Amino acid sequence: MNRAQQLEQLKGRRELWDIAIVGGGATGLGAAVDAASRGHSVVLIEQHDFAKGTSSRATKLVHGGVRYLEQGDLALVLEALRERGRLLRNAPHLTHAMPFVIPCYRWWEAPFYGLGLMLYDALAGRRGLGRTRLLSAGEVRDRLPTVRADGLQRGVLYYDGQFDDARLALALARTAVVQGATVVNYVRCGGFLKERNDIVGVRVTDVETGEEHDVRARVVLNATGVFVDALRQQDRSDVVSLVKPSQGVHLVLEREFLPGDTALLIPKTTDGRVLFAVPWNGRVIVGTTDTPVAETSLEPRALEEEIELILTNAARYLARPPTRADVRSVFAGLRPLAHRSAVAHTAALSRRHVIEVSNSGLITITGGKWTTYRQMAEDVVTRAEEWAALTPGLCVTATLPLDDDADRAIAALAAGDPALARALHPRLPYRRADVVWSVREAMARTVEDVLARRTRALFLDAQASIDVAEDVAALMAGELGWSAAQQAAQVRQYCKLAGGYLLESKGASDGAPPSLSS
Ligand SMILES: Cc1cc2nc3c(=O)[nH]c(=O)nc-3n(C[C@H](O)[C@H](O)[C@H](O)COP(=O)(O)OP(=O)(O)OC[C@H]3O[C@@H](n4cnc5c(N)ncnc54)[C@H](O)[C@@H]3O)c2cc1C
Repeated sequence: MNRAQQLEQLKGRRELWDIAIVGGGATGLGAAVDAASRGHSVVLIEQHDFAKGTSSRATKLVHGGVRYLEQGDLALVLEALRERGRLLRNAPHLTHAMPFVIPCYRWWEAPFYGLGLMLYDALAGRRGLGRTRLLSAGEVRDRLPTVRADGLQRGVLYYDGQFDDARLALALARTAVVQGATVVNYVRCGGFLKERNDIVGVRVTDVETGEEHDVRARVVLNATGVFVDALRQQDRSDVVSLVKPSQGVHLVLEREFLPGDTALLIPKTTDGRVLFAVPWNGRVIVGTTDTPVAETSLEPRALEEEIELILTNAARYLARPPTRADVRSVFAGLRPLAHRSAVAHTAALSRRHVIEVSNSGLITITGGKWTTYRQMAEDVVTRAEEWAALTPGLCVTATLPLDDDADRAIAALAAGDPALARALHPRLPYRRADVVWSVREAMARTVEDVLARRTRALFLDAQASIDVAEDVAALMAGELGWSAAQQAAQVRQYCKLAGGYLLESKGASDGAPPSLSS
């Protein structure tokens, strides 16, 4: 994928696009794959980087949602389990099955959770990833050697899926391009083109150059996650909000807190939620919270009480309680929960997606979750076809493999140049070849794009990512022709951003950049 080429396609087209999509997260990219593979002409614009928003900040589970089972929402669980199966089949290189254990310290917990999870298996049917079963205390300790042993009675083992969210977003972008779509990052939608009262396209700005362009399309999709209301307001000033954002925070710990390949599920936190501790890329992700927030931001920050809540609940289950000093990274994301009523507590709001068509023809889709992105895309593209009277195309995404050539391409770069085969940092699982690939093949434009979403360095170890920022900027400068001043500015901006992911400097992080060495 090459940004200059994609941008030229956007600027150079004289005919109408069938579908213009605003938003390059799971929802927009999924819709681009669906629409392009049905044969429509499609352009997608993303104001920042692909998956910069919520779609790189998930717990990274491909799941039916054990919690929704408890809430009795069988239809939602069934849909997600069906999509879980499809995603694992269509992107086997980016997803895998993962065992989860619920440690039980009270007599009723094992039969209670065991029965619920057997129902989960039954709903998954032949798409099940492994059989739920009850474990003895010894078997729980075998799988989770660091779990608190005193009072442990039994456990429940079940299976779900895991994935890399930002990498999956990139695979969707690549697949969309392979299917004929044009997808461009760092292009912002600033408003709509209208004729009479109908939307006939979008006015966009290339964020890198400030150039403006008109993109004319038969139908426009608003897939901007927690930002959908801001775009809807540009269509009509009197819209009632569709989304109520809810913040979720994760802490990333060293693997020693949860060695092995099994994830831990804490079924009821002190505030009545589900909490996961999940092995991921050589670390453990612990989260998440569910805090209603009034503001939407591309860089939400963890609240002190969310950090405390996670540490307190992890300490209830782990023999060695993690402390702030053990946290390698803290990241926050905003769930775009569909606003159905005036319910104050966001955990009670819907995880389902909603589609709205405005009088002027703006089609907005929001809600849902990563796991169900494909179904969301199918639904919204069908709606767009109907609204714009496009010739309906066959939806093929249920069986369409997702394109991802990253591992092979990075290995080839490293094999061809010993300098690129060198590790970026002893605490990070990446090589210098990863940086070069990110720029050449994956449309990375900034140090942040490389360290946060092409690699996941920022999420795995914020300080280590700060330590390598200068090296990364130097490699990128060689590829992108940056001046020394541009290179220095990139490092400065990155260190300032990454400071917000360091726990110790939290609070003071928005000011001075953190030190470059740990
Ligand atoms: C803490 C947390 C944990 C989660 N865990 C899971 C999980 O384990 N499994 C799961 O299935 N789901 C999970 N989810 C849900 C899932 O991450 C989201 O449902 C999904 O990522 C939403 O994607 P989206 O594309 O709708 O929004 P986003 O990813 O936010 O994408 C919207 C994009 O629109 C862009 N945009 C906004 N305005 C404009 C504009 N004017 N012009 C151009 N672009 C614009 C933004 O920059 C952004 O990139 C989790 C969510 C959170 C918050």
